[in-house]
Amino acid sequence: MPTRQGSFHLFRLFGIDVFLHWSWLLVAVYQISRTKGYSTPVWAVLEYLALFAIVLTHEFGHALACRQVGGQANLILLWPFGGVAYVSPPQRPGATLWSIAAGPLVNVALFPVLTGLVFWLGPPSELQRIPITDNYRFVFTIWQINLVLLLFNMLPVYPLDGGQILRSILWYPLGRGRSLMVASIVGFCGLILALVFIGFHILRTNAISQEAIWLVILVLVIVLPNCWRGFQEAQALLRLAKAPRHDDFACPNCHAAPVAGNFWVCGQCRTAFDTFSTGATCPQCGAQFANTACMECGILSPLSEWAKPPVL
Ligand SMILES: [Zn+2]
Ligand SMILES: [Zn+2]
Ligand SMILES: [Zn+2]
Repeated sequence: MPTRQGSFHLFRLFGIDVFLHWSWLLVAVYQISRTKGYSTPVWAVLEYLALFAIVLTHEFGHALACRQVGGQANLILLWPFGGVAYVSPPQRPGATLWSIAAGPLVNVALFPVLTGLVFWLGPPSELQRIPITDNYRFVFTIWQINLVLLLFNMLPVYPLDGGQILRSILWYPLGRGRSLMVASIVGFCGLILALVFIGFHILRTNAISQEAIWLVILVLVIVLPNCWRGFQEAQALLRLAKAPRHDDFACPNCHAAPVAGNFWVCGQCRTAFDTFSTGATCPQCGAQFANTACMECGILSPLSEWAKPPVL
């Protein structure tokens, strides 16, 4: 995954900072120089800028939906493999599902608009007509790009949107840990299928196409490490789910009972302790903590708000 390192700030909209990675410019120059069929290269530049705009609105879809459900999202990073919206929705299946689904829904919304434009400029049969006008080629290409982005993103391969949507839906019946476990395993299967498919394609055509290289990089740089991280996170979540709980406390935000054990670390002396047994006080150095973090949802709340009223 790219980081803000090597990226520069483009603009800020709705409180969301948009950064562009330098490699995007490199790939842009390469892609624009390869685009053929237009009467002037200006159209090729416009085509790449339109791709950029589609990816950006998709990412804004994620970020704005995440904020709508009370999550955090204030950074979008664009790089040659598309965009990354750094979203952290509240850890509930519904909130996560909406934050993920809102991205592809932008492409779904663009589809009738672009289809209308294509038909307005001339039905697809016009493609047979030589020469095709620049504006028709442009609109038709944008229509294709939007559709390919949508279909590709909806593949149920974690961490693509489709894989994350699968995970959010499975979250309802399976819970947070097991849904992530299933989604990351499905992701590994998709990854192997993709590599086998690319291998066969190379053998059959006896050539390594640019698309094949692109896909291999995507699989190895994005899918593989994210599936692995998802798998490890799922294991940690399952361990957490099995841990004993303090049933006399509940998170004021997500209502989960906190785990019992030395899961909290003192900010002063680094001692690990169970804050619910010690009353938010470090047993080693005596430091008092105003807020206690929930292991399930990450929200900080004062310990007094955690106490459950006794059932009479
Ligand atoms: Zn997305
Ligand atoms: Zn919580
Ligand atoms: Zn301490």
